[in-house]
Amino acid sequence: MAEAIDHTLHSQVRRKHGPATRPRFSFEYFPPASPLAEERFWRTLRALGSFDPDFVSVTYGAGGTTQDRTIHAVERILNETDLKPAAHLTCVGASRAQIDALAEHYWAAGVRRIVALRGDAPKDQPNFKPQADGYAFAADLVAGLRRVADFEISVAAYPEVHPEAKSAEADLDNLKRKLDAGATRAITQFFFDPDDFLRFLDRARAAGITAPIIPGILPIVNFKRTCEIAASCKASIPSWLPGLFEGLEDQADVRDPVAASVAADLCRYLAARGVEEFHFYTLNRADLTSAVCRLLLCDAAMQAEPERRQLLVAGAAQ
Ligand SMILES: Cc1cc2nc3c(=O)[nH]c(=O)nc-3n(C[C@H](O)[C@H](O)[C@H](O)COP(=O)(O)OP(=O)(O)OC[C@H]3O[C@@H](n4cnc5c(N)ncnc54)[C@H](O)[C@@H]3O)c2cc1C
Repeated sequence: MAEAIDHTLHSQVRRKHGPATRPRFSFEYFPPASPLAEERFWRTLRALGSFDPDFVSVTYGAGGTTQDRTIHAVERILNETDLKPAAHLTCVGASRAQIDALAEHYWAAGVRRIVALRGDAPKDQPNFKPQADGYAFAADLVAGLRRVADFEISVAAYPEVHPEAKSAEADLDNLKRKLDAGATRAITQFFFDPDDFLRFLDRARAAGITAPIIPGILPIVNFKRTCEIAASCKASIPSWLPGLFEGLEDQADVRDPVAASVAADLCRYLAARGVEEFHFYTLNRADLTSAVCRLLLCDAAMQAEPERRQLLVAGAAQ
């Protein structure tokens, strides 16, 4: 039997902020690896930039493999746009001194936001073992970054529990440690059942975590690939989802509206329960994320008082 869900906390948030609050967005990109991908990256960045994101983040390849490309993309965003870039940084495969030097470089360049992560062990060494002279876990990295400069630091959170965590409680304790070490926001792993997120939010608030916890939304670009990633990070695929995408592998004209609709339904369910900030894993594509943001802005506009409606609709149509 499905667990009964108490949304009291969410109702309180909603009553406090009112239903007409404009939703806020942040967008995640990976650093482009070829001139063609670079062109697409900038096109996507510009297109989604019109939604006035709080920040745009650039991932760091497993084991720091994209380090140069991440730095390049972050600095170009900083210097050539008015967007606020956040650089992802991981502990894996680097000494504390190397990471501190990179953080100092970012700070000197004007980068003020970091998404601080542990990272994963390389695929041929499945068990994560911290490097002797490195930061062992994300909480240690957050503390190290704090010693370097006054960065605004985001960390990862797991509605369905991190696969290596001893228990859900231990994972929540770890999130608390990361926030206590100086992070100010958590961004979640993707999920497809919104109640997984809401239950997690309730557990986090009950454990005394007050920092913003932003749902990570993954619009499905490729269902097979999504299932593979979900399996590796233990994010569950609801039983109703595979049927929706069945037979659509070569039909982008049908698959994309279905994908946008799935992501929009997820966000609308959360928005209706008081969630106001959304972090999108864009996979460097503007279309699906853009469709979802427009729908969320239009929903907010419909609920706004008449004098605010014009403003919000104008924002959605940009
Ligand atoms: C929003 C987001 C963005 C991401 N971006 C990237 C990216 O750019 N590049 C990349 O490589 N990966 C990225 N990842 C993936 C991330 O690196 C992996 O999920 C990784 O396995 C865990 O990272 P973490 O920062 O959550 O680790 P941690 O918070 O350090 O936790 C890792 C595991 O160790 C446990 N743990 C923590 N401290 C201790 C301790 N002292 N003793 C024992 N166990 C402990 C935790 O419970 C957890 O199971 C991202 C994930 C998210 C959600």
